[in-house]
Amino acid sequence: MPAVPNVDRAHEVIESIVSLTEQRDQRSLEQSLLTTVAEMLGNAEGWLLDNLTGTGEDAACTLLHGEAATLPQWIIDQGRAQPASDPFNLVEHDGRIYLLARLADTGIGRVHLLVLAQPSWPDAELQLALGMIRVYQNFVALLSDSEKDTLTGLYNRRKLEMAFKAIAAQPAWGRRQKDQRNGDYLAILDLDRFKRINDGYGHLVGDEVLLVFANILRRTLRDSDQIFRHGGEEFVALLRETPNDSIEDVLERIRRNVEQHAFTQVGTVTVSIGFARLDGCASPVDVMSKADRALGYAKDHGRNQVREFESLVNQHLLE
Ligand code: GH3
Ligand code: MG
Ligand code: MG
Repeated sequence: MPAVPNVDRAHEVIESIVSLTEQRDQRSLEQSLLTTVAEMLGNAEGWLLDNLTGTGEDAACTLLHGEAATLPQWIIDQGRAQPASDPFNLVEHDGRIYLLARLADTGIGRVHLLVLAQPSWPDAELQLALGMIRVYQNFVALLSDSEKDTLTGLYNRRKLEMAFKAIAAQPAWGRRQKDQRNGDYLAILDLDRFKRINDGYGHLVGDEVLLVFANILRRTLRDSDQIFRHGGEEFVALLRETPNDSIEDVLERIRRNVEQHAFTQVGTVTVSIGFARLDGCASPVDVMSKADRALGYAKDHGRNQVREFESLVNQHLLE
C-alpha cells in the first residue's frame, strides 16, 4: 500500500467515515466500525466483545459480532489483561496478529473489546485502523452528549423518546409475560412545590436542588435502571426486571432519601412518585399516562408519596 493514499483510496476512506457516522446508537456504531475497518483492510477478520471488565456475578464476556469458533480464548484473556491505560495492543497468536482495542460504552459504563486479526499489520494499515477508532470515539462522545441533560447529566427527553421507540419496536410488546416475579416498571417523579423553592430562593438554588435530587436518584437506583430528566423538575425512571414485591420499596427509598436530605438553604424537599407496569400496557404512551395519573393522585392527596396505578385502580380510587 502506498504511503500517500491515491484519490480512490481517499474516496473509500471518506465513504467509510460517512457510513460510520450515519449511525445513531452506540451498538450499531460499533458494528459499523468493525465491518468498515475489516473491509478497508481487505482480508482482516473482526470480532466485537461486550463486558470486557465484568467481574463477580456479572463476569460473562459475550460476543456481539464475529465468528465465535475462530476467536481464541487466549486473545480474550489478553484483552481482559490489557491495562485501561492502553487503548490498543498488538498480540501474535498462531500466525496471525491481533489488534485489540478497548472501547468504552458510555451508556452503561461497560468496556467493549474490538478485535481485528490479519497475518501482518503494515504501519499504514495500523494507522488507518487506529484513525477510524479515533473517529468512532469522538463520535461516541458527541452522541453521548446529545443524550444527556446538561444540568444533571441524566438522560434527556430525546433519549427517553429513543428508549420508547426501542420498547415499542420489541415484538409482541405488552403481551410479554416472561417472569411472573419480575416486571418492567416506569416511574414519574415530580418534586413537590418546586415553584415555591424557585420563588423563595431563586432559580440558582432551584437548579442546585435539581442536581442534588438527580444524585440521590443515581445513588438509590441500580446501574441498569435508566433515569431521565423529562421536564423542568419532572423525572422518569425505567426499572427493568425488577421484582414485583420490591418495586414499591425501591421508589419509597427514593422518596425517603429525598425527604431526609438537608438541602442547602432550602432544608426539606419532598417528591411525589407515580408508577405503572410497563409490560401489559398497549404502548409507552399508555404507560406514561398511567404513571402520570398515579402521580396526579399523589399530588392531590398530600404529596410526598409513592402511588401505583394498578393498585389505585384495584382499590377503585382511579378508573
Ligand atoms: P407540584 O407539587 O404540584 O408539583 O408543584 P410545583 O410547584 O412543583 O409544580 P409546577 O409544575 O407548577 O412548577 C414547576 C416549577 O419548576 C416551575 C418552574 O419555574 C420550575 N422549573 C422548571 N424547570 C426548571 C429549571 O431548570 N430550573 C429551576 N430552577 N426551576 C425550574
Ligand atoms: Mg412539581
Ligand atoms: Mg411538574
